[in-house]
Amino acid sequence: MFVGHYSVSLVAKAYAKDAPLGLLFLAVQLLDILFFPFAIVGIEQLKIVPHFTQSTHFELPFMPYTHSLVAALSWAAVSYVAAALWFKRRVTKPHWVATAVAIAVFSHWALDLIVHTPDLPILGDSSTKLGLGLWRSAIATAALELFLTLVGLFLYLRSTRANSPMGKWAMPCFVGLLLIIGVVNIFGPPLGNSVTSLAAVALGSYFGFAAVAVWLERYRIPTRSHGVHTGKGA
Ligand SMILES: [Zn+2]
Repeated sequence: MFVGHYSVSLVAKAYAKDAPLGLLFLAVQLLDILFFPFAIVGIEQLKIVPHFTQSTHFELPFMPYTHSLVAALSWAAVSYVAAALWFKRRVTKPHWVATAVAIAVFSHWALDLIVHTPDLPILGDSSTKLGLGLWRSAIATAALELFLTLVGLFLYLRSTRANSPMGKWAMPCFVGLLLIIGVVNIFGPPLGNSVTSLAAVALGSYFGFAAVAVWLERYRIPTRSHGVHTGKGA
């Protein structure tokens, strides 16, 4: 799963309006943002295996610190604390924003669970590894990513309004572009033929997409009076 993760950013933004969209874009990919550098230096492992599944060209034999269930929950907890401290005096509901960030971080693992072949350990490098293997079907993977992303876009658009002509079209176009990139990623050739080149493409995408989200967010304003509720009392 690549582009589909951003559906959670868009949904989280719809419910936690004070959470910066760029931050939510980074949060949903945090586990991978940590994984790729770890894989480069050998703390975790990614092996390039062309056509390992219909949708991927790599195997993930060892990733206890970023993609075990307990690690994912731990990174979500750390993110919650960091966000709660950062937003303490910056927004009216810092804990609601922190909750959105933590859910975004953990959602990466939950969505990975659907698509990965059994390579997600529970704790450390446990022998029990989880993964429902949707990646084995490129069509099913693309359909899921498309569905999730469109739901996210719909909820985001419903909870915000454009403050300029740019605001009307920019985000749907950007998400459309993300979907095209997602489909190319699923059906296309390997993005890199070494761990370093794959990591460079992935990390460049994660930070690049987050930067675009920061830029485009200013063209839409949250609708506070109606639409999706603001999370009062949560
Ligand atoms: Zn991942």
